Amino acid sequence: MSEVTLSGIKKSFGQNLIVKGVDLQVGEGEFLVMVGPSGCGKTTLLRLIAGLEQVDAGEVRIGGARVNDVAPRDRDVAMVFQSYALYPHMTVRENLAFGLTLRKFPASEIASRVQEVAGMLELSHLLERKPKALSGGQRQRVAMGRAIVRRPKVFLFDEPLSNLDTALRVQMRGELARLHRRLGATMIYVTHDQVEAMTLATRVAVFNGGILQQVGPPLDLYNRPANRFVAGFLGSPAMNFLEATRDGARFTGKGFTLPCPTDVPAGQRVLLGLRPQDLRVATQGPLAGTVDAVERLGFDGYAFVTTETGPVAARFDKGVNVSVGDKVFLAPVSDALHVFTEDGSAALR
Ligand code: ATP
Repeated sequence: MSEVTLSGIKKSFGQNLIVKGVDLQVGEGEFLVMVGPSGCGKTTLLRLIAGLEQVDAGEVRIGGARVNDVAPRDRDVAMVFQSYALYPHMTVRENLAFGLTLRKFPASEIASRVQEVAGMLELSHLLERKPKALSGGQRQRVAMGRAIVRRPKVFLFDEPLSNLDTALRVQMRGELARLHRRLGATMIYVTHDQVEAMTLATRVAVFNGGILQQVGPPLDLYNRPANRFVAGFLGSPAMNFLEATRDGARFTGKGFTLPCPTDVPAGQRVLLGLRPQDLRVATQGPLAGTVDAVERLGFDGYAFVTTETGPVAARFDKGVNVSVGDKVFLAPVSDALHVFTEDGSAALR
């Protein structure tokens, strides 16, 4: 029993309403990843679950029990921070054992749990070192280990990999996925990294301005974003948005027409969404413009093009010559056209 349920959660700091009524259920054994722009309230939500902040309204349940009035140390959750928060004067062994010592576990139990976790995280040879004698990745593993030894119902991670270099992040990402499979624990994870979100999550929750925009399996969100915000937030480069009107069997906008794949009523104004990956730089196509910037990634690349309807990013394949200043056409390569209401608040397709 380790599911986490948030119902009608609100939280203000001073005059600022930061979390604006969040309902979210995280199932037992789930790996839920929270994403959203800086300041949207992700860390605050983690702290509310941990009990480090009190909710102003709503209910937090862990394993079915209401914990609003339960102290952090009695909630049976462990939080791993971006800063690791290790005790500098303690050895790795003492850091790992600390939470258990505090809870007055028997020495033999502490020793065996520390040994088990050190083995799991390849820290056994580092147990007598102090944090300052560890690499960033090793410190990160100690922080993780300190949470694991407690065998909490729920793990809360606040951007735990953001201080690591790229190679180490990739490695730790794999280790986290393995750890989740091995422990089968409920994990709630905040990140700015889309790759972490897409690869680690069983479900992703996208927040904006203290409001949950959409929650679902990563590919569902990518393929069927519920609104403009989610569509533009997930994916890189970001989705292109074009204003258009249904006109007969087509969508018409400034300087382009595209086939209309939905039953949007004639005359309705909409916002079209096209991912750069679904558009190619070509010798002909429904959009025309001038190349502003080019990003070559090796195998392929992206061209950023000024069109009559606004800036549009499109992919080009290896072997295609694209230079700044070129006049180019852009052609959809699939029917992956997203259609939103004119204000972007809801998807129509
Ligand atoms: P980031 O991605 O940058 O970490 P976040 O989505 O995690 O952002 P929070 O850290 O939850 O955002 O902060 C949300 C807002 O609440 C911010 O505007 C922040 O300044 C404010 N805030 C957070 N904690 C407090 C506090 N203790 N007192 C006052 N304001 C706070």
